[in-house]
Amino acid sequence: MNLPTLTQEALVARARALRAEFPILAQVHPSGRPLVYLDNAATAQKPRSVIETLDRFYSERNANIHRGVHWLSQEATRLYEGARAYLAQFIGAASQEEIVFVRGATEGINLIAQTLRRVYFQPGDEIVLTIAEHHANIVPWHLVAEELPIHLKPVPLTPEGLLDVEVLRAHLSPRTRLIALTAMSNVLGTEMPIAEVAHIARERGIPILVDACQAVVHRPLSVEAWGVDFLVFSGHKLYGPTGVGVVYMRRPWPQKLPPYQGGGDMIRRVTWQGSRFAPPPAKFEAGTPPIAEAIALAEAARYLTETVGWEFIQAYEAFLSEYAQQRLAAVPGLTLYGTGQPRGALWSFTLEGVHPHDVGTFLDAQGIAVRVGHHCAQPLMDALGVPATIRASFAFYNLPEEIDLLAQALEEAVRFFAPPEAKPR
Ligand code: PLP
Repeated sequence: MNLPTLTQEALVARARALRAEFPILAQVHPSGRPLVYLDNAATAQKPRSVIETLDRFYSERNANIHRGVHWLSQEATRLYEGARAYLAQFIGAASQEEIVFVRGATEGINLIAQTLRRVYFQPGDEIVLTIAEHHANIVPWHLVAEELPIHLKPVPLTPEGLLDVEVLRAHLSPRTRLIALTAMSNVLGTEMPIAEVAHIARERGIPILVDACQAVVHRPLSVEAWGVDFLVFSGHKLYGPTGVGVVYMRRPWPQKLPPYQGGGDMIRRVTWQGSRFAPPPAKFEAGTPPIAEAIALAEAARYLTETVGWEFIQAYEAFLSEYAQQRLAAVPGLTLYGTGQPRGALWSFTLEGVHPHDVGTFLDAQGIAVRVGHHCAQPLMDALGVPATIRASFAFYNLPEEIDLLAQALEEAVRFFAPPEAKPR
């Protein structure tokens, strides 16, 4: 398939066909209207192949891993380690030893923060981030800062929501010991120039951590090509299950960092005198991991790359995003935030004179699911000067007519919430 030559109609037809693989989307909202799911940045819906992978694992292969000599345990271990190998390749890692399964991106950043605190940070060290970070990439560092006086230096973005690498460079100092940034803002949708930032970081010998929660859903990425030290993402945003996520750590970090939690499966030998630890990645995976979820996450990644295809995702989502921009910009009193390129398929906005929560409730009554609030990015809300926004985030199964429904409902909301004197009699 040569996508650039596909017409818009053909792209939409493909999206419609793919949509049929997501059973939840066929539901009708309690209002009797079709369900319009535009909250994909919070969590994506699951294709049948992911649901069936979970079902098949529990129906046919469920056992605990690594410790069993019996057939089922060996099968479960094979599938779990196979998932690790697939995901290593999915993000372009050099070795599966660099892939650690965790509960999600939040746990992943906490793992990195707490292990760096124990062997790496010194009092007075600085971490450079952007003002667009999710709380998951702020609060773990605050927890470190409570124990060790380290300082966070947030880099402002341009009015379009982009990161100017020269502004970032100006925030670096000899005390900078980590650059930790999102690859795509979950509020603005704008993408950060990770390769350029990683280049600057390498020149200065500063490790770089990338929060890829949003970016990994919209385009292929390669940790090797980017040259980053750490990367995290959550399974549930990538069309996989909840309760599983991935931490990538470039070698030799897996060797250098101590364990995060202690327990079964991460040890070599335990006596009353102490414990010796298993080699990575097992050293970071204490206790029974999310076995079925990791296997189903690998299926989600396979489904995206092999069944849907990145070329389609990128071409179609670019069309959806542009279409949404046009439709939203035409709604009276609507302000879009962070309109820069490159960007993923999501838009944050406010409606003049109406609180985002009221808009969210109004839309829900019409079967339309969007996210309203601070999106776990309060420092960014402060910078934008708003308490909350409305966010519509798209997946490759969304259709242009859903964007039409959103725009029409927003126009109705404008009329509904208009002060009495502004309403036509
Ligand atoms: N980082 C970003 C950019 C996000 O959008 C999110 C979730 O919204 C997270 C981190 C945290 O992900 P999770 O709650 O799955 O750990």
